[in-house]
Amino acid sequence: MDYISTRGNYRIVKSASAIKTGMVPVGGLFVPDSIPQINIQKLKDLNYQDLAYEILNLYLTDFANSELKSYINKAYNSKHFNNTDIVPLHFINDTTAILELWHGPTAAFKDLALQIMPYFLTSAAKKAQSNKEIVILVATSGDTGKAALEGFKNVEGTRIIVFYPKDGVSDIQKRQMDTTDGNNTYVVAVDGNFDDCQTMVKNIFADAEFNKTLNNAGFELSSANSINWGRLVPQIIYYFYSYFQIAKAGKINIGDPINFSVPTGNFGNILAGYYAYQMGLPVKQFICASNINKVLTDFINTGVYDSKREFYRTSSPSMDILISSNLERFLFSINGNNPEKIQRWYNDLQLSGKFKIDNSTLKNIRKIFTAGFASEKEVSIIINRAFKNHHYLVDTHTAVAMNVTLKYREETGDNTLTIIASTASPFKFNKTVYSAITGDDSISDEFALLDKLSNISGVKIHRAVKGLDKLEIHHKSKTSISESRKVVKTILGV
Ligand SMILES: *Cc1c(COP(=O)(O)O)cnc(C)c1O
Repeated sequence: MDYISTRGNYRIVKSASAIKTGMVPVGGLFVPDSIPQINIQKLKDLNYQDLAYEILNLYLTDFANSELKSYINKAYNSKHFNNTDIVPLHFINDTTAILELWHGPTAAFKDLALQIMPYFLTSAAKKAQSNKEIVILVATSGDTGKAALEGFKNVEGTRIIVFYPKDGVSDIQKRQMDTTDGNNTYVVAVDGNFDDCQTMVKNIFADAEFNKTLNNAGFELSSANSINWGRLVPQIIYYFYSYFQIAKAGKINIGDPINFSVPTGNFGNILAGYYAYQMGLPVKQFICASNINKVLTDFINTGVYDSKREFYRTSSPSMDILISSNLERFLFSINGNNPEKIQRWYNDLQLSGKFKIDNSTLKNIRKIFTAGFASEKEVSIIINRAFKNHHYLVDTHTAVAMNVTLKYREETGDNTLTIIASTASPFKFNKTVYSAITGDDSISDEFALLDKLSNISGVKIHRAVKGLDKLEIHHKSKTSISESRKVVKTILGV
């Protein structure tokens, strides 16, 4: 399998090289040049690990079979995921299943990719016979940061530097990151919002001069954000796996199309679902759910992507994003791998903060995608209802997708079985969850709320956040956007 740039501006590379490089250095993202097809009948009975192997092996063709198997065993086991299914399903009713993607070490769906990706990356560096230390730069809206820190901590030959928006993450997310141990981890608070952080990191990747300075000092930058192909490909697995589980539960027959509803920020999770669909997974509709930062809802409804708008901080901070990086991969693919259009649109985006797609592209998108958004009020109401009616706790991000799913069903009458991606443990965003359920918003200490939420629900506190306030704080660095290169150099001693 070869990998190409969405903007047609780079040479063809193999998967290891795409993963090691992260983003195309001259702008653009690496994508497979074709989508492999699979036979769902053949794969339907596999356990998570064996299915993971079948899927990863189709895309990561320059990794040895034994290598992939060993990484899968190290990543997807009972030590890291406290559930034999890795990603268990919880049925709310006959047509709605919640796919719990948060049983990993940091309580967010990012663990599914970031527990395995460090193995891809260090192996890729070896294949390239690189003698440089890999420096992972991460911009995070909260969950990626901690998941990447846990994935990369103490991994030989790597260092990881995480940038998060100073006021853009929850207290628990911040504490999860600041208490990370390990001899190669660095965490820096940035004066700015997530988009500022992400743009800052992208600019550092694209800064040839700066990269040369680091190279000469023995370092090489790479990315653990979902702009890296190594982040996306493991996410394809759980779309197939959950589909097969639904069939095993007798809710559908293999071959019946279902819907997936995904709380979306950077478009990485839902894009993996779209790749699964292209590989042969029977899907009727993808429901792209946003919070009030609804740039994607507007885009899918009008064909105009307009990032120049007010930015809101919401109770679902991992979706407080106005520039959805992976949309570029999607637009490339839905246009039959057309780099000219991507060049034009992303040039417009850079120049004016917006772009407009042609009608035929929009029509193709709307055949398979529908989009909606949930207000903050709607998020609270749905969390309350899920608990009162189903005795089920959902986090704020999952609640966004539940609300949008319900509205979609009311509007269209489409009652196709729907899998809702649940992207975080409710304990991670407990302030909103607790007040939505009890009506009491007087307690602002997120650590005290862990016990309270557990007591009223009878659900055990997720191990990722239990006792977090007792851990030692290891990281206190801060930076402004303009000082970020200096901070990287200081950390690396360059
Ligand atoms: C990252 C994240 C999202 C958004 O996922 P994308 O792949 O960026 O669309 C949604 N919910 C939670 C809890 C997350 O951590």
